[in-house]
Amino acid sequence: MLAPVVTTIAEVRAAVAAAREAGKTVGFVPTMGALHSGHASLVRAAAATSTFVVVSVFVNPTQFGPKEDFAKYPRTLDADQSLCSDAGAHLIFAPPASEMYPEQSVTFVEVKELDAELDGPTRPGHFRGVCTVVLKLFNIVLPDVAHFGAKDWQQARIVRQMVRDLNVPVEVRVEPTVREADGLAMSSRNRYLSPAERATAPAIYKALQAAKARVLAGEIDAARVESALYAELTAIPGARVDYARVLDANTLQPIQRLDRSAVAAVAVFLGTTRLIDNVLIGEG
Ligand code: AMP
Repeated sequence: MLAPVVTTIAEVRAAVAAAREAGKTVGFVPTMGALHSGHASLVRAAAATSTFVVVSVFVNPTQFGPKEDFAKYPRTLDADQSLCSDAGAHLIFAPPASEMYPEQSVTFVEVKELDAELDGPTRPGHFRGVCTVVLKLFNIVLPDVAHFGAKDWQQARIVRQMVRDLNVPVEVRVEPTVREADGLAMSSRNRYLSPAERATAPAIYKALQAAKARVLAGEIDAARVESALYAELTAIPGARVDYARVLDANTLQPIQRLDRSAVAAVAVFLGTTRLIDNVLIGEG
């Protein structure tokens, strides 16, 4: 059976209230649509944890920069509805922008420090847009548990911090990155890739795996792992490296020694398509 799509906040509140009335617990998966198996795994995780699962499908304008792909971001609501329903969702919230941002919306949420590296500097205002829309969605859906993907490591880390700092009564869970058979992290943006770009794209994950292998082989110096990673990515034909960093996985600050849990995180342009990926390396 297809989970219904609703477009207004009032409809979501009514459906969630009815579910609560019936004794259900509420799980939530925020997305921008153009859903793939990575999103489906989040929905399945939510359905395994909670008895009423809400998925939002909203291409959030406030998290896109003026030169980014907001206008061309893929919109595939019918397919998204089937995918969510098959994965165990009970309700899909797909609001128009005017429902989420009526005129005179002038309040924004900003998490400091955790945006100092990675997508923070290269996408100014991005996490402010993400945090604002996620907090709004939390306040609309009022979930017990919300599920995010490790593929967007910095985003998940920032959302966790927001929830902690603002005492938001939601448990945030981070689910593993789902990959294609050749290792490419699934992403809605993969559909922008030309056949040639798609063929080279798995080299991004191969470079991350090589970084992890270096650490497993005993390398302890973060800068050396980082420069080898950068070199490997720049050698990919047609790739332009936005960043390749090895950071403390928790603080997202630079580290010298890999004596704690660290994240190797990259952003790479293949043609005009910007792909991000990461792996955890180091101890802990
Ligand atoms: P998006 O629609 O790209 O904004 O992503 C919505 C949620 O799905 C975020 O929590 C992402 O981290 C998560 N996600 C996207 N791609 C993947 C993937 N390949 N594996 C696991 N989670 C993912």
